[in-house]
Amino acid sequence: MVAAQLVGLGISNPRVLAAMGRVPRHEFVPAELRRDAYRDGPLPIGHGQTISQPYIVALMTELLDLRPESRVLEIGTGSGYQAAVLAELASEVYTVELIPALAQQASETLGGYRNVHGKVGDGYLGWSEAAPFDAIIVTCAPDNVPPKLIGQLREGGRLVVPVGDSGGTQQLYVLEKISGMIQQRSVAPVRFVPMVHGSK
Ligand code: SAH
Repeated sequence: MVAAQLVGLGISNPRVLAAMGRVPRHEFVPAELRRDAYRDGPLPIGHGQTISQPYIVALMTELLDLRPESRVLEIGTGSGYQAAVLAELASEVYTVELIPALAQQASETLGGYRNVHGKVGDGYLGWSEAAPFDAIIVTCAPDNVPPKLIGQLREGGRLVVPVGDSGGTQQLYVLEKISGMIQQRSVAPVRFVPMVHGSK
């Protein structure tokens, strides 16, 4: 998967490629879909949710620019696959999931990663007790950049987030906090499940 797909699509960070090679994606998908686990496509994980295609996981991970000492926040634990890739590259991973059954399942799959901390909640609000973070990745699409996530980003940190409405187009953005100011650039059109939230 790494050599045939990710490198060919332009993923070049050697640490990211090595992490993608180490995490067994088949362990994060339902048993009946295991034979499809290394194809470059999204797969259903139950509760109407999906695990992203490997290329998007690798792209978003690369954009976070992680260092071994980084503390990362993920919104949308889902299967836990993205959290496992982050855990290979960073010192601590905090991950928030709205659906309790998915959070429970992911924590079982992620049992071997002692640096992953999960909780059930509305990720639109981030995880204030564990802030600030060097990097924040959102793997469901809010219709605006959640202001609390910007507030929980450390100076010099990066926030990678798909923004847009569920039916229409979404854009993947990278926001960087530089001298207290936010620099934002749009990277690619993407398709994620919508972020469900009550608090705005
Ligand atoms: N990163 C996941 C894929 C996530 S799919 C993986 O690697 O498998 C998107 C996830 O976001 C779903 O599990 C969905 O339940 C969750 N989600 C949606 N709205 C949310 C919210 N407000 N807070 C936290 N999680 C949310």
